[in-house]
Order: sequence, then C-alpha cells, then structure tokens
Amino acid sequence: DEVRNLTVAVRIRPMNTRELTHVGATNVVQVKEQNVIVTPQNNSNVTKLDYVFPYDHVFWSCDERNSKYSSQEDVFVEIGQPLLHNAFQGYNACLFAYGQTGSGKSYSMMGPDVQNIDCDVNSGIIPRFCQELFTRISQLDNQCTASVNVSYFEIYNEKIHDLLLTNCSRDVHAPLKVREHPDWGPYVVNLSTHTVKSYEEMRKWLLLGNVNRATAATAMNEKSSRSHSIFSVELSILEGRNDLDPGRRSKVSLVDLAGSERLGNTNKNEKLKEGVSINKSLLTLGKVICALADQRKGTQFVPYRESVLTWLLRESLGGNSLTCMLATITPASSHLDETLATLRYACQARSIVNRARINEEPHD
Ligand code: ADP
Ligand code: MG
Repeated sequence: DEVRNLTVAVRIRPMNTRELTHVGATNVVQVKEQNVIVTPQNNSNVTKLDYVFPYDHVFWSCDERNSKYSSQEDVFVEIGQPLLHNAFQGYNACLFAYGQTGSGKSYSMMGPDVQNIDCDVNSGIIPRFCQELFTRISQLDNQCTASVNVSYFEIYNEKIHDLLLTNCSRDVHAPLKVREHPDWGPYVVNLSTHTVKSYEEMRKWLLLGNVNRATAATAMNEKSSRSHSIFSVELSILEGRNDLDPGRRSKVSLVDLAGSERLGNTNKNEKLKEGVSINKSLLTLGKVICALADQRKGTQFVPYRESVLTWLLRESLGGNSLTCMLATITPASSHLDETLATLRYACQARSIVNRARINEEPHD
C-alpha cells in the first residue's frame, strides 16, 4: 500500500478590475517558497499580524512578469501530471478544486472558457490531462490494450444529474441515486459512461458536459457556483503478454466544487436571511475533513454518508486514492475573510492520510 497524505496546493489569481477599483484595495497575499503569507491591512495601529500557511505547492499566478509566476502549464506539470502517472500505475486518483466563487477553480480545472476548450497555452488541467492521457497510451508497449471510459455529472441541491445526456435539463430526467456496491463501494446508479478512443472524442464529451452544466444553471436562474461537477475517467490497461500478468485499473475524479463562500464562518444568520441555503455537500466535506484530520487523536466517526458528495468521494478522502486539493484564492484585501477561511481549510486537509493500492485487473 502507498500511504500518503493528501497533497495540498494553493493558487493565487490576479486581482480583477472590481477588486482593483475597490476603495483602499491592496494585495494582502504573498508567497515565500511553499508558504502563503497573509498580511491583513493595518489601518488601526494594532500589532501587525502575519499569517503563514505552509503547503505542498504554491502557485503565484498574479503577474506574468514575476519570476515566480505559475502558468496553466506549470500548474499542470506540478499537480496534473502526477495524477496521470498514478493512474498509469493503477492507483485511483482525485483532484478537487476548492475556493470561493470567482477565485479561479474553473479556470484552473478547465480554462478561461469552459465552453471553448481547445488545447492551448490557456487550457486548464482537465483538457491537458485528457490530451496527455492519449499521448501516453500511444506510447505504451503495443502488446498492451488500454481502455478509457468517461462520465460527468453534477450535484446540485443534493441531487445528481448526468451531464452527458444530449438533453439533460434538470426537469426532464429524474435525479440519479447513489448506491453501495459490495466490492466497488459507492456509485451512481444509471450514470451514463462512454468509451473514448481519442482525445478528440473525450473533448466532445467534456464540452457537452460543460455546456449542459451552464445551460442547467441558466435555466435555474443562477450560476453554476452552487453545483459541484465531477468528471471521472476510468483507465484500464491489460498487458496481454502473459495471462498471469494482471492488468491495472484506475479511476480518476476531477472535481470542481461549488463556491465555498456560503460556508464562511461569519454571520450564518445573515446569510440565511438572504435566502441563501448552506450547501450540504460542502458543509459535510468540511466535517469529513475535520474528522479525518483529527484521526490521529483517536478513532472518530467520519460522516461520509451525510451528503452525496462525501459519500461518492469516500475513497478519495482517507481511502484508496492518491488525492490532491487545489485551493484557489484572490489576493485582494476585500476578500480577506474568505481567503483566510480557504487557507485554513486547505491547511487542515494536509493532515488527511490516504492508503492507496494498485488495482489489479484480472484477464477475462
Ligand atoms: P470560479 O470557478 O472559482 O468561480 P473562475 O475560474 O470562473 O472562478 O474565475 C473567475 C474569473 O477570474 C474568470 O474570469 C477567470 O478567467 C479569471 N481567472 C481565474 N484564475 C485566473 C488566473 N490564474 N489567471 C488569470 N485569470 C484568472
Ligand atoms: Mg466555476
């Protein structure tokens, strides 16, 4: 078994026009090696307090001219490629993006325009992952057979919707259910899966899912910021040479979470009054991370089953998977509270320990 802590990366996006024109706008975040340092604005002569948070990777993406600047490619090389590497070895892998709405989750996972995902300098981790997956398959020993299956769904309001149906408006199809399989664990019943033989085919499914997600969000008169999307890729490789040689199988989950802002520890009552519902899956994810981070102190009950997201991602959180969390933040002083909340959350996640094993695929 490969026993490994959750890998945690933080990415800082550039300030946007609104943040730059905010009265008294400043940049309160800096990076130093693998640390994120937050310096709250100090206009009241109180003792200056810097927060220092250490991570496995820190990506400064604010100004291209800075020597520390991390591009989309840099981010992919540091956290996307290891995922691919693990998948080819037969380990399950998971990457999830966490952060407030507008902090850069979708930009990092998909690219600047989710409905236009060509592989170029701006494309995010998922298209790059898909492209490199097929490059590596083409480099395999020609006695190997590889097969790739994809599925894509979203969780909105604790209900699961398949994003790869040609008409997947939320009112047309009944939401899907989660069930527990005795060997494979939790899975989505009746979720469509699609075999793909090239990057081009994979890209078409990805695009369909992205368009469906955007359309569903518009129909509900709100942004996709309240839904979680999960793109999963199942890779299986058979060696072919020798029947005794087991193949390898891996499932990779690439997750773009709902905006974390509604969890902000400040003023829950205010938020409820505004009619904003607390996202149960995100709330439970927090509880699960808390419980797992505490495991070392003794056995704690981990409430995986309390939400759809955590039930489905159970293996990725403290189980049979090599998992990475990408936390995204803005450096703007106007979002200091949310940024600190995200950084604390991400720090806590680093103490989660996963135990992954190579999944062997028997020959038929
Ligand atoms: P989220 O998915 O977290 O709500 P987005 O990924 O949609 O946020 O990002 C919000 C805006 O900021 C988008 O216009 C996006 O293009 C821009 N943005 C995010 N991250 C970066 C980055 N690293 N570099 C440049 N622009 C970014
Ligand atoms: Mg988004």
